[in-house]
Amino acid sequence: MTRHALVALIISALVVAAPLAQKNAPAKPGGNAKLDALKQEAVADVESRTQFAQQMVDQIFSYGELGFQEFETNRYLIDILKQNGFAVQEGIAGIPTAFMATWGSGKPVIALGSDIDCIPQASQKPAVAWHEPMIEGAPGHGEGHNSGQAVNITAALAVKKIMEREKLPGTIRIWTGTAEELVGTKAYFVRAGFFKDVDIALFTHVGENLDVSWGERAGNGLVSVQYSFVGETAHAAANPWRGRSALDAVELMDIGWNYRREHLRLQQRSHYVVVDGGDQPNVVPPTASVWYYLRELDYPHIMELYALADTIARAAAAMTSTTLLPPRILGSAWPGHFNRVIADAMYENIKQVGLPPWTDADQRLARALQKELGVADSGLAVKLDTLRPALKPEERRGGGSDDIGDVSWNVPTVTLRFPSNIPGLPGHNWANAISMATPIAHKGATAGAKVMATTLLDLLLRPELVSQAWDYFRNVQTKDIKYQPLIRPQDRPAIELNRDIMARYRPEMRRMYYDPSKYPTYLEQLGIAYPTVRAADGSCAGGATP
Ligand SMILES: [Zn+2]
Repeated sequence: MTRHALVALIISALVVAAPLAQKNAPAKPGGNAKLDALKQEAVADVESRTQFAQQMVDQIFSYGELGFQEFETNRYLIDILKQNGFAVQEGIAGIPTAFMATWGSGKPVIALGSDIDCIPQASQKPAVAWHEPMIEGAPGHGEGHNSGQAVNITAALAVKKIMEREKLPGTIRIWTGTAEELVGTKAYFVRAGFFKDVDIALFTHVGENLDVSWGERAGNGLVSVQYSFVGETAHAAANPWRGRSALDAVELMDIGWNYRREHLRLQQRSHYVVVDGGDQPNVVPPTASVWYYLRELDYPHIMELYALADTIARAAAAMTSTTLLPPRILGSAWPGHFNRVIADAMYENIKQVGLPPWTDADQRLARALQKELGVADSGLAVKLDTLRPALKPEERRGGGSDDIGDVSWNVPTVTLRFPSNIPGLPGHNWANAISMATPIAHKGATAGAKVMATTLLDLLLRPELVSQAWDYFRNVQTKDIKYQPLIRPQDRPAIELNRDIMARYRPEMRRMYYDPSKYPTYLEQLGIAYPTVRAADGSCAGGATP
């Protein structure tokens, strides 16, 4: 008898025995023996798929694709989903690297999403506890978005098997958080109607613990907007008075913004990069562009910040006698608001699943990296985080964004965080890539998949949860605040972003794609010892080989 068959036998025995047992033992509140047995089965099934999840985590890590250029990642995920009976709509909402996969029929419709893109210049050898790029200057998974799809797909396959056998009605959708680092797509998915018939959205994102929150947290929403100026070219030495510098306009806009920054609310975050600053110094730059992320806590404050940036841009154009082109919105995000009912149910499953058992090697890598970065060497989390409730308005001080916020204002949504990364890292950095193709990421993703699978079963077998979630959504969350998109009707996804960077690095990266037919893990393919940490004298001798 296989282990699988044995588990199935025990579970069917439990299911049969459950009504008898209930007669003797007092039923726990909300107790549901059949559901509990199915959850145990799902957890065992996810555990049996650890290699499947590990390969997915490693494969997507090796692709290292920036936002809107996730072509390999997309193809890979679509193939897996089709092989497993999902119908896949490709290139949704005008975005070539986005899809919506569907399996099952009827209610509830549950959408599982996770981001897939990576970070510029974050190339890093996994399992090596110091900065050592795989390819100098190349992008890499310095946020850990290579791990979330493994969580969702592993969970979905375990639950699908149960749904087929038990003939449970319900529809599972799987979709990609494409170009999340550009907050570039989810508002378009919403606009195109992809969440119209969805009952519950379960999102997942890499973290340092196994946790979930509800209500509004610290994070901001934002608009991502590019200001482009047009001047007049001239010989910068012979006839400078004939020229009008678009770069001057960009610089004056940035200076204006930086002076004004002191007089903005503390909750705002704003930052920019100059994407076009001219060609060469002896030619007065006829074009220049600056790209801003303008972040605030809520829609009215985001719009206020955006209007101020428009004013400063127009003023910079006036000062330099250049022309300001119509500002282009490259992305947007509502601040997230997560569903209390679903978070409560998910947290019960988190408590059942618990944190993965870390090995000494896992902890050694974590502590070595923390030491390298000069932060507390606390190692990996060994104590489960608490359920994080809504912050009070005065406790919200601003922070990062994720365009899952847009989904969360259209459908009851939660974000599950799973422990595939090391605590105390800077974020958007090579350091955040180090654990992401190691046993830490693999075990974290499997723990996440167990929570996802058991929460899916809750939603399928306890229809009252779905209606309570909508009750919270309608009567608490959106009672006074209604969603209105930050993107304008004329805006289109900025699908050309990152094309040039990926074209530059992809040929070299392609040679390092993970080949699971030859190597059980990506670390073995790379020939990296786990963990690779500094010697006692602090040297990197005998370090990473490739
Ligand atoms: Zn992220």
